[in-house]
Amino acid sequence: MIEGQRGPATRYDPPMPREPLTVVVAAFNEAQALPSLHPRIAAVLDGLAGEVDGRVLYVDDGSRDGTWDVLRGIANGDARVSLLRLSRNFGKEAALTAGLDRVEQGAAMILDADGQDPPELIPEFVAKWREGHDDVHGTRSGREGEGWVKKTTAHVFYRLMQRLSRTPIPTDTGDFRLLSPRALAALRQLRERHRFMKGLFGWVGFRQVAIEYRREPRLAGSSKFSLWRLWNFALEGITSFSTAPLRLATYVGVATALLAFLYAVWIVVKALLWGDRVAGYPSMMAVILFLGGMQLVALGMIGEYLGRLYEESKQRPLYLVDSWHPGSEVCSGGV
Ligand code: UDP
Ligand code: MG
Repeated sequence: MIEGQRGPATRYDPPMPREPLTVVVAAFNEAQALPSLHPRIAAVLDGLAGEVDGRVLYVDDGSRDGTWDVLRGIANGDARVSLLRLSRNFGKEAALTAGLDRVEQGAAMILDADGQDPPELIPEFVAKWREGHDDVHGTRSGREGEGWVKKTTAHVFYRLMQRLSRTPIPTDTGDFRLLSPRALAALRQLRERHRFMKGLFGWVGFRQVAIEYRREPRLAGSSKFSLWRLWNFALEGITSFSTAPLRLATYVGVATALLAFLYAVWIVVKALLWGDRVAGYPSMMAVILFLGGMQLVALGMIGEYLGRLYEESKQRPLYLVDSWHPGSEVCSGGV
């Protein structure tokens, strides 16, 4: 309690400035889904107009269908919309990075272009942000329209990640999230080339809170992530946020060496007691093949990390921009 503030009943509350909130959407071949997604986002932002200065930024991640034309159409009809087009398909993580790099003021809300993350939930995210949270993320309580293989692998992956990594990475949480200005600024400092965004968000920390939601089926088209791409994505996550596999090689090596030593002792003892009749071919092959396999696995693991080190050392930009069209309302200003 501060003394001396109990003045007359007429307290002057200056109007809260409407802080900008940019909805960032990465789109790769989403020409079919975008026309029905944008009106939903626009309606939500209209509803929030008293609270935030809503904007939308679409990043065309080198789409090969009519996505860019669809986006141009959307931007022509809505002054809040900015467009960014990358020079080729760089992948969702790079596209999101490109989008977030362009959010110069206020908070950012990340949303999938396929309608799987319902825009209607944005007000809930904004409310949490208003309460003082920096990273409000959507946690999937259910996933519709996705096969059991994807569900199971995703389930196992998130749990494995949590065990392997010391960075807290919330389970069943995708990129559907709102980042406060300071969380955004922090994220911008992480310029690694191999970007496992979920991990990067977790690394940033600050005040995090989850919002549960049911993940809806895609509006149109099919997932851009095949099982093979998901596997590579998982490798990215593990190698970016954990060195446990490298250590695993050491432990397995030590264990094998110990077993080999015991086996050697047994062979010597056996030869001393009963003599040796050169009958060791199968066991020898077994040991050689086993050790050879182990060594290759360990080498492969080292290779995974070495390859990433090599990529990082090249210091290439994370993405290249083909064109940038800020929305007229975004340019002229809000603030
Ligand atoms: N995406 C992208 N670049 C890519 C692949 C996907 O920008 O190379 C976008 C895609 O348009 C969508 C989001 O990332 O907005 C999620 O992709 P998708 O729906 O295919 O993944 P899933 O929901 O199946 O995990
Ligand atoms: Mg999707």
